[in-house]
Amino acid sequence: MNLIGKTSAEIAQLLQSTVDRDFRGHQIAGWIHQRAARTFEEMSNLPKALRETLAAEFSLAEPEILERVVSSDGSTKYLFAVEDRETFEGVSMPDGGKATLCLSAQTGCAVGCTFCVTGALGAGRNLSATEMVGQYRLMRRDLPDEVERVNLVFMGMGEPLLNTTHLGQALAVLFERVSPKRITISTAGIIPGIRWMAELPRRPKLALSLNAPDQKRRQEIMPITRRYPLDQLMATVRAFPLERGRRITFEYVLIRDFNDHISDAEAVARLTEGIPSKINVIPLNEDAEHFPELKQPSRDVVDSFARALRDAGRVVTVRWSKGADVAAACGQLKGLGSTQRSRQVQEHN
Ligand code: SAH
Ligand code: SF4
Repeated sequence: MNLIGKTSAEIAQLLQSTVDRDFRGHQIAGWIHQRAARTFEEMSNLPKALRETLAAEFSLAEPEILERVVSSDGSTKYLFAVEDRETFEGVSMPDGGKATLCLSAQTGCAVGCTFCVTGALGAGRNLSATEMVGQYRLMRRDLPDEVERVNLVFMGMGEPLLNTTHLGQALAVLFERVSPKRITISTAGIIPGIRWMAELPRRPKLALSLNAPDQKRRQEIMPITRRYPLDQLMATVRAFPLERGRRITFEYVLIRDFNDHISDAEAVARLTEGIPSKINVIPLNEDAEHFPELKQPSRDVVDSFARALRDAGRVVTVRWSKGADVAAACGQLKGLGSTQRSRQVQEHN
């Protein structure tokens, strides 16, 4: 059994009949989570025989890193593979003393937004808690020593709120290292998932990928809107409990001549009226292969759009994506894709 996706309390419980002394369970959990041990062998204050027993009965295996690509802007894209040879990606963005790690929750995405490469590749499978925690551990370990503060964003591959069982377990483990206020879950608008998050005793931050100002256009680019209509979605978001000082992030992918008009910015401002929020404008990352007809607006249009939102009193950040040169930017993550995936499987057999 792999222990890295278990909380310290669970580890202590699981090891009860294996360890020689009562305090050992917590000692071992400390090695696993606080000290990020990769093997039982390195747990130098345990008796050698115990280390051998643990190694025979339990595992600390992390995903394999198939590839690490460093972008000119300093971000690194990781391609991970897990036991069944499924692959997924994660992105690490160090910035002086802090860093943001972008994590995946699935190996593809069934939601099928028309502007997203992950969606174009279709459904993958849910990542387990062990796999999600594993990607965090690998990217965290690789960060420069000066990094003290780490933010986690579930904005990688897949829809985290379609994987709430494993996500909940992963969060319980991640909370041992990272405060909930430094973890953001980004969703395309899965209403039951947002309600699930609202009930969590320790709640990460919510980011909603809004992407269009009305039901009609949202449905065109995000088919999930048919299932979870915009009015119900906004009502659910309005009911989301916010700790003091927290805001909801609205992501808005800006697509040329589709949703980039000043009147669209005004509509977004109206939609978000009264919600403590931050609007993250993301100029579309183009992809000539999967959606050649969708373009990024000009810098001027992006600026005017952001200005119109600010004029309406909104807090706005424009996210010119990191890692675009290595396809690590928002919406560009694809693991190996299905063809390459099957090739990979053959190579490994
Ligand atoms: N499934 C979740 C999280 C992963 S997508 C969600 O949709 O929120 C993370 C973010 O990338 C979302 O805000 C999405 O709208 C954005 N995104 C997807 N494709 C993009 C693209 N081609 N260019 C810019 N942003 C994109
Ligand atoms: Fe899935 Fe998010 Fe991409 Fe939509 S934007 S297809 S929900 S990963």
